[in-house]
Amino acid sequence: MRFFIVIANVKAIYRCLANQFIFIEHAIVEMDIFEASMEDGFRHQGMRKLLVEHLREKGIKDENVLQAIGEIPRHLFFFDTAFLQFAYEDKAFPIGSGQTISQPYTVAFQSELLNIKKREKVLEIGTGSSYQTAVLVKLGAKVFTIERQRALHEKSTILLEKFHLKARCFYGDGYKGRPGFAPFDKIIVTCGAPFIPEELKNQLKIGGRLVVPVGEFNGVQKMLVVDRISETEFKTTEHGDFQFVPMLDKTDMAQ
Ligand code: SAH
Repeated sequence: MRFFIVIANVKAIYRCLANQFIFIEHAIVEMDIFEASMEDGFRHQGMRKLLVEHLREKGIKDENVLQAIGEIPRHLFFFDTAFLQFAYEDKAFPIGSGQTISQPYTVAFQSELLNIKKREKVLEIGTGSSYQTAVLVKLGAKVFTIERQRALHEKSTILLEKFHLKARCFYGDGYKGRPGFAPFDKIIVTCGAPFIPEELKNQLKIGGRLVVPVGEFNGVQKMLVVDRISETEFKTTEHGDFQFVPMLDKTDMAQ
């Protein structure tokens, strides 16, 4: 009897070790796939150069913005390696949770409007893939970014850390801004707002600038620049039509 118990135990230990081995093997394979997909080779760099030229032709003039776009490996912000071939097309693309990574031209255009100086405090509403966040960090800004979808917030926090791109990532409702860290030199909204959020205006420094697309949900939005002239005065200018995913309020915090 004792003999059978010993055999059973040996079998159990063996099975356990075998499972452990399979688990470790899987983890290694997964890590290999991840590391391989994190590759930024000559092919990607070449595609980025073409994208930068395309943005220049479309009217982007700020050399710092063009340089940042030339340096950030957009294909690594897709969260899904199956779509790498689309990474350097000038198009928005789905990144899960019903959201999109912004079109490169839109990222460049908003970044140019922000006119970022090194070490400026910038608040971003709508982290999404964190591609725009990465561009802002590359421009030398101290970035605070808010995302209302927990899954995207978590993925982008890990991704930015992985690239050593320092940004403070928050999960929450962008309509509220981040009063604890205000005032900001610049604020960028990367989703279409139904109106200019009052709280964001209040969190601007005097002389600061808010860039926000405003318009109907699932329609066209006007790119607005709101400059804070004084404690009570703001000047708003319009900069063309764009299409963003909607800026949703706290009642949509489904997670
Ligand atoms: N800058 C991102 C754009 C992502 S799309 C990029 O480059 O990928 C816009 C993002 O805004 C989405 O991820 C969406 O979940 C988020 N969003 C929408 N409403 C929001 C809100 N009220 N607060 C914070 N984020 C919001």
